[in-house]
Amino acid sequence: MFCRPSNGGNGGKRFFIYIKKKCIFVKSESGLVVQLNRTSDSGSESRGFESLRGHKMDFLKNIDSSWTLFLDRDGVINRRIVNGYVERLSDFQFLHSVPQAITLCKKVFARILVVTNQQGIGKGIMTEEHLSIIHTYLKEQIPEIDKIYHSPYLICDNNIMRKPNIGMALAAKKDFSGIDFQKSIMVGDSQSDIEFGKNANMFTVLISETNFPTSADKVYPSLFDFALDVNKYFTKI
Ligand SMILES: [Mg+2]
Repeated sequence: MFCRPSNGGNGGKRFFIYIKKKCIFVKSESGLVVQLNRTSDSGSESRGFESLRGHKMDFLKNIDSSWTLFLDRDGVINRRIVNGYVERLSDFQFLHSVPQAITLCKKVFARILVVTNQQGIGKGIMTEEHLSIIHTYLKEQIPEIDKIYHSPYLICDNNIMRKPNIGMALAAKKDFSGIDFQKSIMVGDSQSDIEFGKNANMFTVLISETNFPTSADKVYPSLFDFALDVNKYFTKI
């Protein structure tokens, strides 16, 4: 058996990959262990839990390589700034093990798309150019992301391109004809993300460390925990 820490894009020792009895395991800092190269769970413990409301079926079992993953940005990929905005690149900080999580997700999903509300632009706090620099950096760090969509509109605009309205989902479907919303998952950290996913008829995942009632289909403490759980059901590794 050997064990080594990851040294992914954010440089932290965030998870371990090891082989035991010809099986590959990944262990997160939180202690979650997932076996990658077998279809059975073999007793692995998951921190993911069904939401109090929403689908009870385990839709993760139905995922195949035709599915699409939609990701919110702030609070899922990078640290959210409470009562503020990621105005410039120096404000952008990856959450733990996100590059590794998206690498794992790319083994499963046909495409990974980011959909993000950025009303700081509408407020005049930041510019499209500032956002473009941040998103160019994000794509450089995580090339598995196929495309990033953003909405610069204010809440009061109620523009179709602003979540929970589904304009960004429709724009993505126009760009990627293979998208089937019934074979898509929206992962976000806010109720508007969950409503966006449900409005587009997607499955929904809330990223939260708190187990409070939500209409999301599943809840995980981090994108990495979600990625590990998804990979439990996928055998092409
Ligand atoms: Mg968010």
